[in-house]
Amino acid sequence: MDDGISKDARIRTLVAAALEGSLTDPQAEALAKLDRNLIKLAFLAAARRIAELQGKLTLAGPDHPNTPSGQKPPYVKPPAPKRKGKPGAKPGHIGTRRPAPPQIDRREEHRAEVCPDCGGPLQRCQRTRTRTVEDILADLRTEVTEHTVHRDYCPSCKKHVEPTVPDALPNATIGHNLVALTGWLHYGIGVTTQQVLDLVGIHLHTHLSAGGLISMWHRLAEVLGPWYEQIAEAARRSAVLWADETGWRRNGLTCWLWCFASKDACYYMIDRSRGGPALAKFFTEAFDGVLVHDFWAAYDAIRAQDHQCCLAHLLRELEKVDLTNSSAAWKAFAKRLRRLIRDGIRLRKRADFDPKRYGELIRRIDRRLMELARGTYGDADADRLAKRLMRYCDSLFTFLDYPEVPYENNHAERMIRPAVIIRKNSQSNRSDKGAMTQAILMSIYRTLKLRGQDPVQTIATALRTYTTTGHLPPLPIQFIADG
Ligand SMILES: [Zn+2]
Repeated sequence: MDDGISKDARIRTLVAAALEGSLTDPQAEALAKLDRNLIKLAFLAAARRIAELQGKLTLAGPDHPNTPSGQKPPYVKPPAPKRKGKPGAKPGHIGTRRPAPPQIDRREEHRAEVCPDCGGPLQRCQRTRTRTVEDILADLRTEVTEHTVHRDYCPSCKKHVEPTVPDALPNATIGHNLVALTGWLHYGIGVTTQQVLDLVGIHLHTHLSAGGLISMWHRLAEVLGPWYEQIAEAARRSAVLWADETGWRRNGLTCWLWCFASKDACYYMIDRSRGGPALAKFFTEAFDGVLVHDFWAAYDAIRAQDHQCCLAHLLRELEKVDLTNSSAAWKAFAKRLRRLIRDGIRLRKRADFDPKRYGELIRRIDRRLMELARGTYGDADADRLAKRLMRYCDSLFTFLDYPEVPYENNHAERMIRPAVIIRKNSQSNRSDKGAMTQAILMSIYRTLKLRGQDPVQTIATALRTYTTTGHLPPLPIQFIADG
């Protein structure tokens, strides 16, 4: 299974190198090889660098003023002219719309054939309005399109109606591809907001502010909300589910980022609670599968078909105690427990058992576990762990009964790691809305990756469908490559 997480760290390093201008030839090649979308990134980073150098050298470029801008590769396009004065509204003013982009590459007209509301005939009017949308194309050009939208009159609805522009969300000034690409960079692989602006902003005629970008991501999360619900449903219905949680800050408060991941769905949730209340929000009814988790007590209370506690955590605990406790009683206990865990894992790895013999061997493991758990050792650490073995005796060797259940919680830890990196790179969420957008978009980008989908293309296509039909298509299922 390729969830692309080991790649993400390399991508962030390479993006940072590209933005510093220190990207070497082999690094640029590596970036392009990692992912289809990264070819775009590598180009953008290189183009940005060239544009900067051109700015410094102030050479007469190869571009003649008569060359249509659409025929120029992005790196010979001049950077957008410097704005006069500070961008944005003066302090105390309510925000105004940003000025229209200076240059139009393409013009498109939109006129409804019939009333979009009632389907009836329209009376043609002379009323139009224009809006401009800038987007990034498959060949990396950025393109500003001026849309002229006719406002005709519907006599039956008694109002002026207009057709939808399919290339962007209503009133948005950047198109679907740019929204999906920037969202993926930030929420998918953890590139900071400023780096995203540095990377794509230089190529755009449209002025893109951090605030504008973030509000586009909020809208993206709102539109994709149904997918977030579908991911939760898929996770709740899975046969095996991994759970983990880590600290998170929201609006200055300590919160927890929860991760519930199956093999093809990864659901993140940010909540104030690190216990039952948060879990009750996710597990709305009993879970009909095997839940894999560490020894955090809150997970015990979940009603599930079976639990598997992470044996890697238990082994790490033994190592930790080894550092401070060298009593004979501890050493004897730790040796027996290690041997038991090792024998359990070995038993599962053997492929050539017959079911009857396998059943006998499992019962033997269970007997050894109970003996170990019931013992008294006269050593505080050994007694403490024996108590834990007793408490979790039904959740330690569950994996012997289910071929698809592992003995450790690695999958959840792998799924939560990208979120931890995003937390380190970016500021914590300053609002509840920011935290919600974070949870929704991280879940969607991670799940699309797990399903082998191209997240940028999938989301851009879904946005187009949503804009034209008002309905979001269902979240794509697992992509199976041919061969
Ligand atoms: Zn009508």
